[in-house]
Amino acid sequence: MQDSTWDDTPIAAAAQRAAQVRTPNALKLPRPERPRIMTIANQKGGVGKTTSSVNLAAGLAICGLRVLVIDLDPQGNASTALGVEHRAGTVSSYELLLGEATAEDAMQSCELSENLFCIPATIDLAGSEIELVSMVRREYRLADAINEDFLTEHDLDYVLIDCPPSLGLLTINAMTAVNEVIIPIQCEYYALEGVGQLLNNISMISTHLNPELHISAILLTMYDGRTKLAEQVTSEVRNHFGEVVLTTVIPRSVKVSEAPGYGQTVLEYDPGSRGAMAYLDAARELNNRGDYPATEESSPIGQAPE
Ligand code: ATP
Ligand code: MG
Repeated sequence: MQDSTWDDTPIAAAAQRAAQVRTPNALKLPRPERPRIMTIANQKGGVGKTTSSVNLAAGLAICGLRVLVIDLDPQGNASTALGVEHRAGTVSSYELLLGEATAEDAMQSCELSENLFCIPATIDLAGSEIELVSMVRREYRLADAINEDFLTEHDLDYVLIDCPPSLGLLTINAMTAVNEVIIPIQCEYYALEGVGQLLNNISMISTHLNPELHISAILLTMYDGRTKLAEQVTSEVRNHFGEVVLTTVIPRSVKVSEAPGYGQTVLEYDPGSRGAMAYLDAARELNNRGDYPATEESSPIGQAPE
């Protein structure tokens, strides 16, 4: 007879994992000493920025940390995935950037957890890059809105900003408001295309606008274990960038892509799924290792791939 019990079956394992997510006390994480403010950026489209923003945020919130997601993409995908109101006219990141509302006015609670909040994006944001051009401190509007008082008052541990796939004033506003950049890289052909340019842009912003800015994590997304290519991309990225790359890799999973259709993160939609577990692991890794050291040798900035 086979030496396995019911506990070893894939369904039982998934059930156990789901139970773990639903009893978050077991998952409690230590709070960071200071609030960590980060943006998930890559000007390449469809690499998993939004998916990673909302699911990392959900993972951190499930582990007891207080997390705010700021949707800075006029597509409003992060707002959809977090199930918050973002019809035209809703107080959103647009009003925040224009100085017509405070962060507190624009912040909504998310159903997943009492620790999870979102400042949504509405379609109004689409015109904001042009409106911002003539404004004072146009590169720092978000930084000014997410100030120390606001963070303290709401006792926030993390702020995660979801960026659009471009390097306009919205992304620049995100990058002056944060210390940390997380770059998602899709485990696909052309994965590193444009990464060199992204690193140069980050380097330029850190030189001219925000000296605190640095890359604190690279997250490999949409890993398809059945393909040789995914493995090749993974080792190429790890060889090139070293320890800044999170150990946890996010698998390609249908559940991850289905969840936003239900206004949910994958951690609510299918908490026992591989995708949910991977995002939970990535969130825990991000918290446990702290802000990645931004010393010259360890920073990937300026080491753009050929
Ligand atoms: P954009 O540049 O348009 O803002 P993005 O970088 O935010 O895109 P996402 O919207 O997160 O990328 O993901 C792109 C698509 O890939 C979406 O349809 C999403 O559901 C899907 N996707 C993301 N991660 C996964 C995954 N791990 N498994 C399967 N599908 C995924
Ligand atoms: Mg997106």
